[in-house]
Amino acid sequence: MKRTLIAAVATLAVSGAWAEYPEKPITIVVPFSAGGPTDKVARDFAEAVRKPLNATIVIENVGGAGGTLGASKVAKAAPDGYTLLLHHVSMATSPALYRTLPYKTLDDFEYLGLINEVPMTLIGRSTLPANNYAELTKWIGENKGKINLANAGLGAASHLCGLLFQQSLKTEMTTVPYKGTGPAMTDLIGGQVDIMCDQTTNTTPQIESGKVKAYAVTTTKKLTTPALAKLPTLDESGLKGFNVTIWHGLYAPKGTPKAALDKLNAALKVALKDAEFIKREEALGAVIVTDARTAPADHKKFVAAEIEKWGPVIKAAGQYAD
Ligand code: ASP
Repeated sequence: MKRTLIAAVATLAVSGAWAEYPEKPITIVVPFSAGGPTDKVARDFAEAVRKPLNATIVIENVGGAGGTLGASKVAKAAPDGYTLLLHHVSMATSPALYRTLPYKTLDDFEYLGLINEVPMTLIGRSTLPANNYAELTKWIGENKGKINLANAGLGAASHLCGLLFQQSLKTEMTTVPYKGTGPAMTDLIGGQVDIMCDQTTNTTPQIESGKVKAYAVTTTKKLTTPALAKLPTLDESGLKGFNVTIWHGLYAPKGTPKAALDKLNAALKVALKDAEFIKREEALGAVIVTDARTAPADHKKFVAAEIEKWGPVIKAAGQYAD
């Protein structure tokens, strides 16, 4: 009896302590460089989630190794609700790509909800002689062994997309890894690298301003964003079945108290209805998630299914890192 009472008082004290959460700034780790697509989503999301959480949000960029360095940092952080991870499809591709991953994707995180889905675009430096997809494949065929393909490291979305593209064309390019496609884009615009496959949230403004050439979209459906609507799909351009859409979600270290997780998920759901956030994402070709995957259990189920989906594709491409 006495023990039950003590336990009840202890539970109340814990939830009481968490009633005030958050009491200090929350850090969202972005596992890529500043200025790239994941950073952009994170900063816009932070702006939308700041109000419902009533907290200051700090973005910390921890780029490198295709997003696995930043993810590892959060997996090992104190589970106190003050360090979160905003990450993308790499959560699902890295388990197949890395022989040893410093965290367990499904065991070392609390899943907070999916945020958006983003198509990708195949782009090239503005000085490339190819002006459309057919000319691009011809140019690739004529320049075997000389083409540089930029990406954000093994496991990044840009890596996954570039890998599938090379596999579909049965060609190999020299990959140039960056800590994010923000700096990769700077080099593509500068002409230091030739082509890249990246999220529309990063490529749309550069396509619009003519700083890069755009060749195709990675979804099987054409896009409606004005700057992207004229682009063919890779699927209809000859790479039958090519279909890559990536997604971002929010995570906390395993063991974060439920009271904090509940508040974070409730705030995420409010942020996903923020008109300004929706407008910004849509203008860049991204779609805010509105279905059950905004809830922790379905978010985790979805990532588990994505691990199953991408594992065999990556293994078939024979790509590994230690
Ligand atoms: N998300 C990008 C990628 O996977 C990298 C970035 O956000 O900078 O390539």
